[in-house]
Amino acid sequence: MINIALFGPPGAGKGTQADLLVKKYNLFHISTGSILRSEIEEETPLGLEAKKTIERGDLVSDEMIVRIIEKTIRSNPNVKGYLFDGFPRTYVQAYILEGIMTRFNKKLCCLISLEISEDVSAKRLLERGRTSGRSDDSEEVIRKRLREYNDKTLPVIEYYQKINRYFPVNGEDSIENIHSQITAIIDKQML
Ligand code: ADP
Repeated sequence: MINIALFGPPGAGKGTQADLLVKKYNLFHISTGSILRSEIEEETPLGLEAKKTIERGDLVSDEMIVRIIEKTIRSNPNVKGYLFDGFPRTYVQAYILEGIMTRFNKKLCCLISLEISEDVSAKRLLERGRTSGRSDDSEEVIRKRLREYNDKTLPVIEYYQKINRYFPVNGEDSIENIHSQITAIIDKQML
């Protein structure tokens, strides 16, 4: 069992790397962004609550995210490991995740951080916006998401640095090179 969190600004390539890792290590993928988007599509109470926040480019509440994570882990207990994608995204979420993991008798081995500059992030999101159909991929909302990232999400790095579980990777490299750097980190942790 190995539990990993993929970290990085919007547009860092977390989704692409997550798909490759899920296949290679047979992990259960938990993307808070995708879960929220399907809740919105299905017009569930949670989706309705989250919709406006996401369309503004703000982060949804820690409380809502924690509810989603707990429910997803509880409904999928017998898996080889979890791959968290887009979570933890605040210091509080990082702190709560430790508690959740302990409660379920598990441990997060590493926070793998895909590092890209703000310029590259903005450029990739604008490009994606042309085809993704995501209502939060417009220029104004992208700016807001990047501000949220700098203010609220970057401090997560400190949390994992302190406990030696922060592993940065250059997210501006090719998909294949990034994947092999990540697998090298994970394989070392599994020894
Ligand atoms: P991005 O491409 O910005 O990384 P995601 O698909 O991960 O996008 O998330 C889309 C939106 O969903 C975010 O802008 C945010 O509003 C919300 N969201 C997703 N995960 C979290 C989280 N862990 N905490 C708070 N808000 C979240």
